[in-house]
Amino acid sequence: MLISYWPPAQAIYIHIPFCAKHCAYCDFNTYVETPNSPAVNKTVNAICADIARSNPPPGVPIRSVFFGGGTPTFLTAEQITCILECLRATFPIAPDAEISSEANPGSSDAEKFAAMRSAGFNRLSIGVQAFDDELLLNLDRFHSAGEAEAALNAARTAGFDNVSLDLMFGLPGQSLALLEASIDKALALQPEHISLYALTLEPGTRFERMHTGGKLKLPDEDTELAMYETCIERMQAAGLQQYEVSNFAREGNQCRHNLVYWNNEQYYAFGPGAVSCLDGLRCRRERSPGAYNQKISNADSVIVETDEPDSSESLGETMMLGLRLREGITCERIMQRHGIDPLQYFAPQLEKFQREGLLVIDGSRLRLTHQGLLLANSVLSEFL
Ligand code: SF4
Repeated sequence: MLISYWPPAQAIYIHIPFCAKHCAYCDFNTYVETPNSPAVNKTVNAICADIARSNPPPGVPIRSVFFGGGTPTFLTAEQITCILECLRATFPIAPDAEISSEANPGSSDAEKFAAMRSAGFNRLSIGVQAFDDELLLNLDRFHSAGEAEAALNAARTAGFDNVSLDLMFGLPGQSLALLEASIDKALALQPEHISLYALTLEPGTRFERMHTGGKLKLPDEDTELAMYETCIERMQAAGLQQYEVSNFAREGNQCRHNLVYWNNEQYYAFGPGAVSCLDGLRCRRERSPGAYNQKISNADSVIVETDEPDSSESLGETMMLGLRLREGITCERIMQRHGIDPLQYFAPQLEKFQREGLLVIDGSRLRLTHQGLLLANSVLSEFL
């Protein structure tokens, strides 16, 4: 029988929906604002109020807190640490919780990082994208390669010993050699974690419009595949283990928050547009900061969309997300969460992918092969 067992949520996501400028490829829920403006202040207060009224069940410690966006470091040190204090006042945060924030080089300095570190943040994820000023300009990024390096150094000075760098490949104007140069630079800085994502053309972005109009020259498919393989080889050679399709880390530095997503576990979420997963329901909050703030001040619900995946959708998601991990997913775990044997339920897909050399069944563990990784998106979609 198909069931869905959801272990209690032990993770929190905070969405900060502001950026100093808008990047050409980005479709995240973010708005260009002036730092410390009345609108930003109101939103920080509204996020705190949203947290304070969440009424979590007692006794379940939070093991991971993640500030994403947008640009969390767009906030002042006082604003970002105030939100963390609100969380501590409402939730039992475990003493060894991973408290992580995304940071953009253009809005990061040693003083802000030092204040965040003393408030309890213990991981930073710096959005570098490329150590190449021309490529950054093409992306409409608002920082230079030198500022990205300075941000990493500022994080170290502030006492962060768990830092991730985000890099992208498949960028307009990027050759394999340019990608390798960015990787060289990133590795020389010795981060504990690197994420390497391929550029995707999201509907409604400037890049998508340029592409439709024939004005965006991207590396071809073969080059992009070669870039991905280069990423994997270079990370492995540098001792950063691939633990997920796009993520690499030193032992013990895997991102705890992202593991919550890939293990299809539950999490709280606060802030405009944030999506929580609680009691088997996915709930999206009001996207626009103005509407979110208004609803909070009227004491109205900020949830505007609720999705209840049925048991078979949940099972497909557990499979699809679990197989993104290099260690894959065990039959026991699926049995415990969904009450079925995946070897029977997914027999046609498993047989086909094993035959094609894209997936292996190792004892009770299912995982993608190297070849399967290269085609991950199309393979994984067949479990949904
Ligand atoms: S900084 Fe990040 S969230 Fe902000 S516009 Fe650029 S890609 Fe999007």
